[in-house]
Amino acid sequence: MDKRTKFTLDENEIPTQWYNILADMPKPMPPILHPGTGKPVGPDDLAPLFPMELIKQEVSTEQWIDIPDQVRDIYRLWRPTTLFRAHRLEKALDTPAKIFYKYEGTSPPGSHKPNTAVAQAYYSKMEGVKRITTETGAGQWGSALSFGGACFGLEIKVYMVRISYDQKPYRRVMMETWGAKCVPSPSPDTKAGRDMLAKDPDCPGSLGLAISEAVEEAVSRDDTHYALGSVLNHVLLHQTVNGLEAKKLMEKAGVYPDIIVGCIGGGSNFAGLFLPFVKDKIDGTKPDLRIINVEPASCPTVTRGPYAYDFGDSAMLTPLIKMYTLGHGFIPPPVHAGGLRYHGMAPIICHLHDLGLVEARAEHQLATFEAGVTFARAEGIISAPETNHCIKVAIDEALKCKESGEAKTILIAHSGHGHVDMAAYDAYFSDKLKDYEYPEEKIKEALAELPKMSAE
Ligand SMILES: *Cc1c(COP(=O)(O)O)cnc(C)c1O
Repeated sequence: MDKRTKFTLDENEIPTQWYNILADMPKPMPPILHPGTGKPVGPDDLAPLFPMELIKQEVSTEQWIDIPDQVRDIYRLWRPTTLFRAHRLEKALDTPAKIFYKYEGTSPPGSHKPNTAVAQAYYSKMEGVKRITTETGAGQWGSALSFGGACFGLEIKVYMVRISYDQKPYRRVMMETWGAKCVPSPSPDTKAGRDMLAKDPDCPGSLGLAISEAVEEAVSRDDTHYALGSVLNHVLLHQTVNGLEAKKLMEKAGVYPDIIVGCIGGGSNFAGLFLPFVKDKIDGTKPDLRIINVEPASCPTVTRGPYAYDFGDSAMLTPLIKMYTLGHGFIPPPVHAGGLRYHGMAPIICHLHDLGLVEARAEHQLATFEAGVTFARAEGIISAPETNHCIKVAIDEALKCKESGEAKTILIAHSGHGHVDMAAYDAYFSDKLKDYEYPEEKIKEALAELPKMSAE
């Protein structure tokens, strides 16, 4: 039996270009619209928020976009990341399936997020900006951008969703260690935050609200940009560095996946992994490839939401994006997978789902932790609560193979470790973790507030 467990690339094999799926989409994406005019947004609308280079990347249809040398040099600190064959998990499940995972947990902040954080900090620095504001859920993105800011000497201010700020104090300390400032959202620092605090002083916060706060501050200051850790096309573009490595490594392992699974909050880690593979499905070379997006049952955006125009944030400051959405006012239940608590989804993933090229599934919190513990006991790695969602589905698919006797190849997008999420594991082991049912009433209310054009 082939016992090879790690498949690696040399540092000089870090990709030199990101892959842009917009060049290969079978149908063009719906445009992003200005909420005032209902017309597609132009570069000038976005210039107060983002560096011009990122605005260009957002709409570019070039198939390949160069990774700047200075960004690639920082990638050297942890890239290329390793592809693992999960021999021990296969054995524990007694499955004929071949399970692989591409592990992003070895980056300094412990997830895939610095792949884009470093790039975004670089482009802001190049355009003379001094500060960047952002939001963070579980604290992964805030810590990644804080690390990116430290790489280029930028001041970073992070609005952290209140519930996670309280549940995960160590992420805040990581941000401070990298020199950033972190405040809980809703905060008294912005109008969006003050309005919410007046309505509900105990508001647990949401990613949508934290985005509103960070955007409001960036728009009000000339020296400040805003950075988004997921959802947008340029973020998914930067994450393809991981998928390109994965594709080379699967070749090295002599396999091609039958099934790729990943967890989706805003969609960036999973799309970063699967986009170079979905290309093979689009061009007809791998028509049977299955790509499964996994989300929490308590925030079931793609599995239950309508495909409609909505705001990216709860204060309705962002442009309108066509995506599956639970409504910009929806505040998801406080599951530990903070990075998956977002009302919308990356338009690229939504478009691919609409075209039938990818599928989606929703999982309950308790079952995902059970899967994460099975994974940890077999493979050693203690995974982020977000990642546990796709591990659950990978295990289910491997068990189906056991029944059918098929030796399918399953590739997991392993987005990060859970070392800063041990309170969540503690809650699981002490039976304090609970499942949240589909929040039907709250979602109905939030969907009633969708902007008008979505009805057209
Ligand atoms: C942020 C995060 C996610 C969810 O974000 P995506 O943009 O959907 O990738 C998933 N896993 C981990 C470990 C994260 O930190």
